[in-house]
Parts: sequence; structure tokens; C-alpha cells
Amino acid sequence: MSFKSLGLSEPLLKAISKKGYETPSPIQAKAIPPVLEGKDVLASAQTGTGKTAGFTLPLLHYLSENPKAKFRPIRALILTPTRELAAQVYDNVKEYSEFLNIRSAVIFGGVNQKPQVARIRQGIDVLVATPGRLIDLESQGALSLKRVEVFVLDEADRMLDMGFLRDIERVMKLMPDKRQNLMFSATFSKDIKKLAYSILNNPVQVEA
Ligand code: AMP
Repeated sequence: MSFKSLGLSEPLLKAISKKGYETPSPIQAKAIPPVLEGKDVLASAQTGTGKTAGFTLPLLHYLSENPKAKFRPIRALILTPTRELAAQVYDNVKEYSEFLNIRSAVIFGGVNQKPQVARIRQGIDVLVATPGRLIDLESQGALSLKRVEVFVLDEADRMLDMGFLRDIERVMKLMPDKRQNLMFSATFSKDIKKLAYSILNNPVQVEA
């Protein structure tokens, strides 16, 4: 199994080899194909399994192979529970998109919103966000999620533990109904299954 055989584009393969990865991790090998097919995916994966690349690589592949409007509406939203995780995922997005014409940004609370808003105004394809700051900026009119095509909910179990259920539900109402949804969680409680049921359409289930 190689990253090339998964069907990822050359600019992504270049970024992957720059990172020093030789073969896809189990979760990557399982998650990348259905995500590339445009399916909704429910993935059971702990941190450290390579799950970030598992959703970021196929997401970037899709966006770059299907370019849209020049003014760059936000086409992909990655929601994470903490600012540390948001920053980490954003670093990955930047590294993997180095050889692509894809722009991204990260937003989270606890810091000045001005530089975040300025970056979004320049036009971005991928937004990594924590729920609070996202809802804040959306209600200020600083960003729109009306053109989101792919929604990723990362570490869904931690999201619920941190009390973000209402925020997630609010964010979902801001996006078009027709979109691809990817949900990652380390554990699968009854509440997580309920959330998965409300977010995902006919999902492919994968496990690391
Ligand atoms: P994650 O689970 O996404 O937080 O990734 C855990 C760590 O594994 C990160 O430091 C990644 O850079 C690294 N990693 C991800 N995919 C691979 C791979 N296919 N080969 C080697 N390392 C990887």
C-alpha cells in the first residue's frame, strides 16, 4: 500500500514525501478512499494514529482537483475542540497544501480576532476553527459558511465532553444541507452515536 496507490495527486505526494511519510497508516489507508469518493465517513481513531492526514489529504485533493469561484468562499470547515488542536491541524493543512493553490486559516478564542478576520477577508478555501470563535465571527458577518462543501468534526468525543453540542448544532445550520461530512472520534458512547446519526448521511465506518 502506498500513498500513490490511494490516488492522491502529485503535489500532495510531494508534500507527503517532504514530511518523510513512507506508507499510509492504517486509518489513512482505510479513510482516504471513501473520503475521495465523496462519501460521509465515521472514523474511530485516537490521536497519534495519523488521523489528521486521514481527512486532510483527501480533502485537499478534492478541493484542488475541483477548483471553484475565484473569490474563494470557505469550501471546507474543520471543527476542533481546542485551540491547541486547531493550531496543530492548521499546521498540517499548511504543510500538505504547500504545492497546491489552496489557502487556509485558523481561528480560535482567547486571542485578538483582528488578524484572523483580516486573513479570512483575503479569501480562504479551508477554515480550521474552534466552535466559540467561529460562531462569534459568523454572527458578526466576518465569515460565511454558506458555501461549505466538506465538514470535518475532529475529536467529536472531546467536543461533547467540553459541552459543544449546542454549538455544533448551530454551526450545522449555517452550512448547506448538501455537503460531505467526516466525523472522527476516539470513543463511541451513545451520545456520539446520536450525534453521528444527526450529522452523517449513510456513512462508511472505518476503524484504526
Ligand atoms: P495525528 O494522529 O494526526 O495527530 O498524527 C500523529 C503523528 O503521526 C504526527 O506527528 C504525524 O505527522 C505523523 N504521521 C501521520 N501520518 C504518518 C505516516 N503515514 N507515516 C509516518 N508518520 C505519520
